[in-house]
Formats: sequence, C-alpha cells, structure tokens
Amino acid sequence: MTNEENYLAWVKDAHAMEKQAESMLEKMADRLEHYPDLKARIQQHIEETRQQQVMVQSVIDRFDTSSSTFKDTLGKLSAFGQAMGGMMADDEVVKGAISGYVFENLEIASYTSLIAAAEVVGDVEGARIFSQIREQEVAMADWSLKHLPDVTEQFLVRSAAPGVEAKK
Ligand code: MG
Ligand code: FE
Repeated sequence: MTNEENYLAWVKDAHAMEKQAESMLEKMADRLEHYPDLKARIQQHIEETRQQQVMVQSVIDRFDTSSSTFKDTLGKLSAFGQAMGGMMADDEVVKGAISGYVFENLEIASYTSLIAAAEVVGDVEGARIFSQIREQEVAMADWSLKHLPDVTEQFLVRSAAPGVEAKK
C-alpha cells in the first residue's frame, strides 16, 4: 500500500471511531439521572464529537477518489469499535466512567498516530485538524480521570442509602 492509501484507511477508521463514540456517549448521557456533572460533560463532548466527524470527513473528502470503498472500511472497523462499545455498554455509572476514560485514550493514541501519518504524506491541513481534535480528547480524558473519584464516592453514598438508586 502507498503511504496515501494507508493514511486514508486510518482516517476512515477515525471517522468510524467517532461514530462509535457518539453512540456510546449518547447512550450514557441518556441513561444518567443522578450524576448531573458527568452528564453535562458528556453532552458537551457529544457536540465536540459531532464536529470531529465533520472535520475528519473533510480529510477523507480531500483524499478519497472513490466513494464506494467507504462502507467496506466502516464494516471492517466495526469489530474493533464494537469491542470498545461493549465495554461502555455497562449500565453502572462507575464502569461507564472508567470505560469512557479508556475510550478517550484510544482516541488520543489514534490521533497521535494520524498526526504522524499526515506529516509523512505532507497533509498539513490534516495534521492541524487531528491536533485540534486530539486537544479535545485530552481535555475529556483529563476531566474523566479527575472526576472519577467523585463519581465513585457519589455512587457509594447512594448505593449504601436504602431505597436510593446508584447505578445511573
Ligand atoms: Mg472523538
Ligand atoms: Fe472523545
């Protein structure tokens, strides 16, 4: 494969990853009732994730000459995406928060690799876009880790109180 072909395949993977991210984050935000800070931060990141999809698609549009290959790549990626999605499907808030942090770090690693690939193929605009997206992923990962103790403590307080729902 040429550098450009590998690069394009990875950018398409990133687009599918963001689709997966959107659906996982939406499920978690919809489910949460008693963790308003976490819910609000997830909702903010859903908006960012939708913008990321548009930005990633703009890179695909510049490099892709055939539109028919897109569906194939989406299908291939879904096994990887589904494994991650399965982790976040847990309906208990602490597990969901841990999995969310893991997923953000998957995104950070993916964009770090994509930035290097963009530089190899000379896609200055792509490298700029992926750096911008990576900053949002780093911010989300940092927030998730910083607030994980709070979420855990709130869960335990609720769980120990009779008749109080804890898991969402
Ligand atoms: Mg993302
Ligand atoms: Fe993210």
